[in-house]
Amino acid sequence: MTAFDSTIHVVYLAAAVCFVLGLHLMTSPATARRGNQISAIGMTAAVATTVVLLAQDHVITAAAIAVLTVGVAAGAIAGLATARKVRMTAMPQLVSLFNAVGGGAAALIAFGDAVRHTGSVDLSSAPVRTTLTTVLDVFIGAVTFSGSLVASGKLAGGIPGRPITFRSGRALNLLFAATGAAAGAAYLAGHGGIAILCLVAAGGLGVGVLMTLPIGGADMPVVISLLNAFTGTAVAMAGFVIDSSPLIIAGALVGAAGTILTKLMADAMNRSIGNIIAGGFGAGDEQAINPGIAVTGQVRDITVDDAAIQLAYASKVIIVPGYGLAAAQAQHEVVALAQALSDHGVEVSYGIHPVAGRMPGHMNVLLAEANAPYPQLKDIDEINPEFVRADVVLVVGANDVTNPAARRPGNAVSGMPILDVDHAKSVIVIKRSLGHGYAGIDNELYTNPKTAMLFADAKAGLTALLAGLKAYAT
Ligand code: NDP
Repeated sequence: MTAFDSTIHVVYLAAAVCFVLGLHLMTSPATARRGNQISAIGMTAAVATTVVLLAQDHVITAAAIAVLTVGVAAGAIAGLATARKVRMTAMPQLVSLFNAVGGGAAALIAFGDAVRHTGSVDLSSAPVRTTLTTVLDVFIGAVTFSGSLVASGKLAGGIPGRPITFRSGRALNLLFAATGAAAGAAYLAGHGGIAILCLVAAGGLGVGVLMTLPIGGADMPVVISLLNAFTGTAVAMAGFVIDSSPLIIAGALVGAAGTILTKLMADAMNRSIGNIIAGGFGAGDEQAINPGIAVTGQVRDITVDDAAIQLAYASKVIIVPGYGLAAAQAQHEVVALAQALSDHGVEVSYGIHPVAGRMPGHMNVLLAEANAPYPQLKDIDEINPEFVRADVVLVVGANDVTNPAARRPGNAVSGMPILDVDHAKSVIVIKRSLGHGYAGIDNELYTNPKTAMLFADAKAGLTALLAGLKAYAT
């Protein structure tokens, strides 16, 4: 092995170490930003090294390097601009769009390789290691591409968020899957080339669309996580096709991380992944903005002044944020209120449910953006034993994740681990109405005698509370 080859291997190894380290650092909000940066450095090094390797082997012409440079620059500018201006509430659909691009790109790698070898390689004698990974790459990449586009459309509102089903939908989906499988088998047997691969891709595209359409908006983030795992798998397959170890490692990491995240999210909703893919749960946000839902039992409301007094005299306050905080973009207001309470000598923490909001880590991202102190952010296992000691729990735009009905069988949130908000001495809920959350059921917390409702938009309610607190706490 020459010194040049050794250097290439060392850089690839260093890139792989960066990916693993970056992923590890992403397990805590305090280090997640650094983790992202380290992974990006690893990927940049891997891409640059690959270009140098190709140039050294004379596999790539100067014109091709120019095309690559323009492509990378255009992609980087478009990605950076979109990520900078996207609203926090639109993040799930952007992630889904990026997923689509990743899956599509992985499939194109296999296509590119097949085109390059057309005529020069006898497919019937090509190793299964190449043909099988080519077929899997194209199929999984195509499923991810079309499925992620549909998921993104549902989340953005371009496609209705409710489950979309039609007669023979499942049969048609099976037909697409069978087409992909038959074309894949033909490719493996050495029959045909690009035309057969196009059939594999067509099967995958059909499966992606018909798999995602029947899934309700409520489950879309789980589906996005699953499609993310598919993207990783497709990328790993692309790595086998072109014999690129960084692609194999990065793809395997994304595939494994996406699979684990999907399982964790399904567990946090007490649903199986199969049940989610079967579809039909949740109608998107249409029902969450429908006010006037009948909750049986007495609902007590509270004025801003009374709520401010209660907070001012508390020793321990736990804030429970939910989707409403994200919808109102009230993260800065909630952190300002928490800071004012801390300054007043109140012990403050945030109770973060794993599926609060509309994407994994939604609350962590929002609160990090507003510079909430990381030690105050506590996950469900850490915060649940603390509720009994809390004088006041302030629930801001959270609904399903606080619903005690989850402890009983027979309803849409049964078995879902919830934040034990009702164990606190008193509860104040800020939301606009008695409207449902994503699960579409009444929240029994609202009729608990300990609970008082502060009916307001999260941003306006928190701003008024802060002003009220300042009046009483000085
Ligand atoms: P919910 O969807 O249960 O409830 C959100 C509440 O926010 C609504 O009841 C709504 O009430 C209120 N709200 C909306 N806009 C505002 C506003 N501007 N100001 C104040 N309140 C507002 O949210 P949770 O976070 O409690 O639960 C998340 C749900 O999403 C769970 O059911 C979870 O399973 C599901 N989900 C989450 C995923 C994730 O990755 N995070 C993935 C898949 C599903 P009102 O209209 O009365 O104001």
